[in-house]
Amino acid sequence: MGKKIILTGDRPTGRLHVGHYVGSLRRRVELQNSGGFDDIFIMIADAQALTDNAEHPEKVRQNIAQVALDYISCGLDPEKSCLFIQSQVPELTELSFYYMNLVTVSRLQRNPTVKAEIQMRNFETSIPVGFFTYPISQAADITAFRATTVPVGEDQEPMIEQTREIVRKFNSVYGHTLTEPEILLPDNAACLRLPGTDGKAKMSKSLGNCIYLSDSEEEIKSKVMMMFTDPDHLKVSDPGKTEGNPVFTYLDAFCTQAHIEEFAPEYGSLEEMKEHYRRGGLGDMKVKRLLNSVLQTTLAPIRARRTELEKDISYIRDVLKKGSEKAEETAAKTLADVKRAMKINYFEEGSEF
Ligand code: ATP
Ligand code: MG
Repeated sequence: MGKKIILTGDRPTGRLHVGHYVGSLRRRVELQNSGGFDDIFIMIADAQALTDNAEHPEKVRQNIAQVALDYISCGLDPEKSCLFIQSQVPELTELSFYYMNLVTVSRLQRNPTVKAEIQMRNFETSIPVGFFTYPISQAADITAFRATTVPVGEDQEPMIEQTREIVRKFNSVYGHTLTEPEILLPDNAACLRLPGTDGKAKMSKSLGNCIYLSDSEEEIKSKVMMMFTDPDHLKVSDPGKTEGNPVFTYLDAFCTQAHIEEFAPEYGSLEEMKEHYRRGGLGDMKVKRLLNSVLQTTLAPIRARRTELEKDISYIRDVLKKGSEKAEETAAKTLADVKRAMKINYFEEGSEF
């Protein structure tokens, strides 16, 4: 049996939000604690963040500690998971450079996530080359650690597919060297791509429509109360739509049966509450109050751990430094295998010149 290895990560473009939590972070912590994996690598993708933030290096730098704080406060344990910084593993850049030869420009142009992101960032014709090629660099990140499993949100599907293609191409040209990864999507449909509080398709740091894991009690409450709902549900007595209504999508993602029993005991289940909303007679405020209670209960312990951790940033720095060293050791072995397969290992001991 081959090893089971996880690689995943986040861009340090802001603090992490509840979309990250349900899309990937919550799952990572479960997988970490399941003990079912030989190695877990969690990467803070600063080099990738620079592909569309080249002029804002301070922003990227500041958010490294923020993301690490979010990780550990959610339950990622540096003793069990290797937390590291992408730019501190230069082998990843080298791998990307070789993988670039195995991908065509038109293949990259077809990537639907990259297309959507280019549009969202208004790059139009001035797309940075580094941004355009980030799916290739992501393939380097995943394969460098021989990851078998990549727990991510739905927007990452095209990236994993691109990685699998690169692995197959590499192995067929140079001989079997790389491991083909599998994507691990959330099983709850609401978590695949959590919408923004403004009703936009995706909660995203770059769109400013987020509830952050580190938001205060008041911030969470005011964001929930301002949330977009069904625009046709004007009067309490009107029938409302629950499908595509972000307040209900968030409830689908976060609300457990225990939450219903505690905060809305007049309903037997979330489904019953939805039926009431669809029939008419249930006001948005009441649904939002439930969502607020659920989010407050979920986020309060995370925020409390974060407040403690914030007191010792040197510990965070230490974790990331050690993690980056371990990550580099692993990536260097894969890079050596890759160079050997590509016959560019001229000075390796034992290789004939
Ligand atoms: P940026 O706007 O800088 O791209 P982002 O909010 O999209 O930031 P990323 O760092 O790109 O966050 O994504 C990190 C991980 O979180 C990925 O696995 C991604 O699939 C997941 N993710 C991000 N946003 C959501 C969301 N709204 N719902 C579910 N998963 C998400
Ligand atoms: Mg993103």
